[in-house]
Amino acid sequence: MVRDGTMTASSRPVRVRIAPSPTGDPHVGTAYIALFNYVFAKQQGGKFILRIEDTDQSRARADSEQMIFDALRWVGLSWDEGPDVGGPFGPYRQSERKAIYAEHAQLLIERGKAYRCFCTGERLAEVRAAKIAAKDSFLGYDRHCRAVERAESDARAAAGEAHVVRLIVPDGQVVVRDRLRGEVTFDLAQIDDQVLLKSDGMPTYHLANVVDDHLMEITHVIRAEEWISSTPKHVLLYQAFGWDEPAWHHMPLLRNNDKSKISKRKNPVSINYYRDAGILPHALLNFLGLMGWSFGDDREKFTLAEMVDAFTWDRISLGGPVFALDKLTWLNEKYIHELSNEQLADALIAWRLRKDYLAQLVPLVRQRIKRLDDFVPATTYFFAGDLDYADVAAELAVPDVAPADVAKGLLGYVDRIEAREGWDHAGLEAEARAWCEALGWKAKHAFMLLRLVVTGRKASPPLFETMAVLGKELTRRRLRQAAELIGKRA
Ligand code: GLU
Repeated sequence: MVRDGTMTASSRPVRVRIAPSPTGDPHVGTAYIALFNYVFAKQQGGKFILRIEDTDQSRARADSEQMIFDALRWVGLSWDEGPDVGGPFGPYRQSERKAIYAEHAQLLIERGKAYRCFCTGERLAEVRAAKIAAKDSFLGYDRHCRAVERAESDARAAAGEAHVVRLIVPDGQVVVRDRLRGEVTFDLAQIDDQVLLKSDGMPTYHLANVVDDHLMEITHVIRAEEWISSTPKHVLLYQAFGWDEPAWHHMPLLRNNDKSKISKRKNPVSINYYRDAGILPHALLNFLGLMGWSFGDDREKFTLAEMVDAFTWDRISLGGPVFALDKLTWLNEKYIHELSNEQLADALIAWRLRKDYLAQLVPLVRQRIKRLDDFVPATTYFFAGDLDYADVAAELAVPDVAPADVAKGLLGYVDRIEAREGWDHAGLEAEARAWCEALGWKAKHAFMLLRLVVTGRKASPPLFETMAVLGKELTRRRLRQAAELIGKRA
């Protein structure tokens, strides 16, 4: 199915989308971009679509898609069309649309806008090395296979020769008309003949994204600033297909306190962290709304419905909004104080006073309590967010290891447990054993350090079961916080 676009973005019913890749934990940046798409769609009486961009199978994580659904629902943003709710433009998972992309790549070949490239990995590496040696400022592909005649190309492909499909990037310039940034001009001499279809038949992000946005009749692309460098390629693709472009809006990136792009090293970035740390979903949404947009009358606290009513693009500010946790806590406090006693009790139950959570704690502490009233003191660290290490600060150490190396070591453990799929005590323990062995730390010392970091205490129920129940978010956060604290001693 190849559809030609005839109407302009502004004359069509508004359809917007988010297109997350299921590669890890659900990111606050996804909720932030989802919020602006949702608000605009609701205000315009349009549709908000969730599409899963999972063509890069090497990065896809099995549980990640479900976590995206759960996290967005928790925060209060629901979609009109998507892989789980269906809709008239499905499938909404790119891995189920492979044939559509191949068909569109073929169409571009037929129109003389793309070509098959048979160059081997070795040749590409040689070309690149030669360019580096010659101090060429453009290190992209040398367009060798543009010269292969169509008949020869067809015959080689029919004979099964491995190839990719590349876009013919013309000479000159391309202009991206961004509704927030004005016209941004890109010099095409710096743009590679982009691979559209890989040798395994999977599309690249660029082809799949453009084909889907067109077929799903997306009118406005509202996405993070980091994609703006891809947009010239997307504009070229729209031109090559002869389709109308959507209206581009590249939102300012969320930033760490030091203004660098938000990153997990400096800020918790998983939506699940905020849920586990006791942030109310309304407060998080309100906070994300404040990032990059202002209500217009200095108002900082507003509901989603109020934002839908008041939203205008001209109050987006492009200076990178800082994701300041203290501001989020300040807003959260206001929301908490507004809840009735009953609502607050319900919020606490939904957070960590649920029976299923208590049921996981019971087997861990039952041998350690004599009376029921011992339970709460024995489990405080299961209900805390950040821990106060003041009483154990001196013990956050490994004998004969410099504090800076202890800090680095802890972050190394975080990397290991993040790279794993799943969160179970056996895996956490296996990772810890491999980790301290690699560092040359005695397990006894390394495990005591982990215990102090995770529980704030020298004695606790079995360490890895404790981490498993406490959960990924709070465990990682404590490891990072402790690493920071220890690093400061260095
Ligand atoms: N798959 C991209 C992402 O992970 C989508 C970017 C876009 O919105 O075009 O965010």
